Amino acid sequence: MNSFDPSRVTVRSAHFIGGQYLDGADAIDVARPSDGVNYAALPVADATLVDHAVQDAWRAFRTSDWARRAPRERARVMRRWAELIEADVATLAPLEALGSTRPVADAARWDVPFTAEGIRFYSEYADRIGGEVAATRPDHLGMTIAEPYGVIAAIAPWNFPLVMASWKVAPALAAGNAVVLKPSELTPFSVLRLAELAIEAGIPPGIFNIVQGDGRTTGDALCRHPKISKVTFTGSSQTGAAIMTACAQTGTKPVTLELGGKSPQLVFADAPDLDRVARRVAAAITGNAGQVCVAGSRLIVERSAAGRLIDGVASAFAALKPGATWAAGTTLPPIISSPQLQRIDGIVKRTLASGAQAATGGARMALPGCGDGAFYAPTILTGVSADSEAVREEIFGPVLTVQTFDDEDEALALASHEKYGLAAGVHTSNLSRALRMMRGIEAGTVWINRYGRTADFVIPTGGYKSSGIGKDLGRQAYEANLRFKSVLIDITDGA
Ligand code: NAD
Repeated sequence: MNSFDPSRVTVRSAHFIGGQYLDGADAIDVARPSDGVNYAALPVADATLVDHAVQDAWRAFRTSDWARRAPRERARVMRRWAELIEADVATLAPLEALGSTRPVADAARWDVPFTAEGIRFYSEYADRIGGEVAATRPDHLGMTIAEPYGVIAAIAPWNFPLVMASWKVAPALAAGNAVVLKPSELTPFSVLRLAELAIEAGIPPGIFNIVQGDGRTTGDALCRHPKISKVTFTGSSQTGAAIMTACAQTGTKPVTLELGGKSPQLVFADAPDLDRVARRVAAAITGNAGQVCVAGSRLIVERSAAGRLIDGVASAFAALKPGATWAAGTTLPPIISSPQLQRIDGIVKRTLASGAQAATGGARMALPGCGDGAFYAPTILTGVSADSEAVREEIFGPVLTVQTFDDEDEALALASHEKYGLAAGVHTSNLSRALRMMRGIEAGTVWINRYGRTADFVIPTGGYKSSGIGKDLGRQAYEANLRFKSVLIDITDGA
C-alpha cells in the first residue's frame, strides 16, 4: 500500500475491556502529526475504570482456561491471531499511519508483518519453558515450576504503536498471563484493532484489554493497582523512574523498563566503504525522523575521516523525501506533535547559541499541503562537546551531533554517556579493534559494521544505566513474564 486518503479512515475511540468496546467521555483531542488536524477525541480511564478493567482481567485469568489450557493450544490461538493481523494489513496499515509518524508503505511492509511475526515468535515459546528439576539430595525431589504472574500492565510509547505494544503483549500472553495495555494517548487507536482480532482468533474475552488515557491519570492508576503483578513499560527514562516509584510504593512489583537512549555511532577511518557508512549513519538518525529509541544520534568519527563522513551524511539527508504519512514515497515523516517539534528546535537553537555550527538543517520545515504538520529538517551539529545540550539530552528527532577523536581511548571516552547506555554502532575493518570497542562500550546492544535491528526476534534488546531494566525480545522477554515456584517433595514415605 503506497498512499491513502486520510479523510476516508475512521477510528473507533474507546476502551476495550472484557472483549468489548467501552465508550467514555471524550477528554483528549488527538491530532494527526502530518497536518496538525484534530481527528478524534480520546476518553481517559480514571482509577475507577482502571479498577474495572483490571478486575475483569483478573477474573478472566482465574476463570477462563487461558493459563491452564495446553500450551500448544495457546500457541495455536496466537498463531491464528498473527494470521488475522497479517491478512488485515489493508485496514491496519492506514490506521497505524493516520495519526502516527509511520509512513503507510512502511506500516504495510514492516510494522504490520513485524507485529504478526513477533506474536508468532512468542507463540513458539508457550511450551518451551516449564521449569526444571533441581539436583537436590536423593531423598527429595526439587523442582522450579514456571507460572504466569496473573495480570500484567503494559504501557507503550507512540513511536511504533503496533510493534511496541506487541513486544509487550505477545510474550505476556504466550506465558499465560492476562494483560491490560495502555497505549500512548498520542497514538491510541490501531491497537484496538489488534484486540478485536484477538477475540476473533479465540483469545478469551478479558485476557487482552486496553484502557485509554494519559500517563498521569490512567498509567499511574494502572501501575498502582493492587491486582497488577508486574509492569512492562517502554518510554522515556523520566517516566520509567515514575513507574518504578509507583510500583515500589504499591507492592514492590517487578518492572521491565525499555527507556531512552543517546546512542553513539563510532566510525574509524579504516571502515569498509566510508560512503556506505555515511549512508548508514544518516539512516540511523532519520529513520522514523529520528524518533527511535536506538537512534544513532551521536556520530563519533576519527578526525581524518570527519569531512568525508559529514559530506556523505549531508547528501543522504538531502535525498530524503519529507511528506505526510499517507503520501506515496515519504521517507522523512513528521515529528509526533507540535510541542515535541518545539522541544527539538529549542535544544538545537540553544546548542547553536552556545557555539555549535549547523552543517545542514537546524529549523522546522513547512510542507505544501501539510497545514500545521510538524516537520523538522535533518540536522548535523558540529563544534559540540560532551557538555552541549544536544549531546547530553535525548532529542528524539533527526538531529546528529558530531565529535572527533584521534585514538581508541578517546573514541571510547566520547562514546560513554553519563546517563544512557541503550545501543552503539562501531564501523571499522579491524576485527580486534571492533571487539575492543564492543567490550569497552557500556550499552545493551552493540552493532558492528551495521546499525539497527534486523527482523530477528531472537536477539533481546534493552538498556544499561538509565536506558532500562530487563529486555524486550528474545527468550529473556518471555522468561520475564513468568515467575518461578520452588517445590521440594520428600520421597522417603517417612522412612
Ligand atoms: P513517555 O515516557 O512520555 O510515554 C510512554 C507511555 O507512558 C505513554 O503511554 C504515557 O501515557 C505513559 N506515561 C506517562 N507518564 C506516566 C506515568 N506517570 N505513569 C504511567 N504511565 C505514564 O514516552 P514517549 O514520548 O511515548 O516515547 C518516547 C520515549 O520512549 C523515548 O524516550 C524513547 O527513547 C523511548 N523508547 C524506548 C524504547 C526501548 O526499547 N528502549 C523503544 C521505544 C521508545
